[in-house]
Amino acid sequence: MIFELLGFSLQQKMVARLYLPTTLLIAAAFVVSVVGNIFYDRFMASKILSGLGEMIANGVHWLSILLLCLSVLSCGYATFRLWKWDKNEDSEICHVCGGITTVKNGRFGEYLKCFACGKIRSCY
Ligand SMILES: [Zn+2]
Repeated sequence: MIFELLGFSLQQKMVARLYLPTTLLIAAAFVVSVVGNIFYDRFMASKILSGLGEMIANGVHWLSILLLCLSVLSCGYATFRLWKWDKNEDSEICHVCGGITTVKNGRFGEYLKCFACGKIRSCY
């Protein structure tokens, strides 16, 4: 994967994967804002569609604010998990490397996946 190409250590991979949703939400807010502005400019140039342009500008404004709020929440959650892990209070850590894990739902029920090494283990 890309982390091996960049020469990331296990801990760097874990932090990058932990903050990936935050990064994606910020990128999505940026893309929504840029694309919304392009449509707004196009619609405002037309006399017939200018009302629709106002609606799009309003929707894009609130959608990008919502995405940024979600990214703040996601960042807070990731930082909280990292803080708990650093204090050795994280209840579910990887049995191989000691990294932070996430619970996923698979074909054979719930399992833990490590953010650092990527190993999986059954919850039971
Ligand atoms: Zn691990």
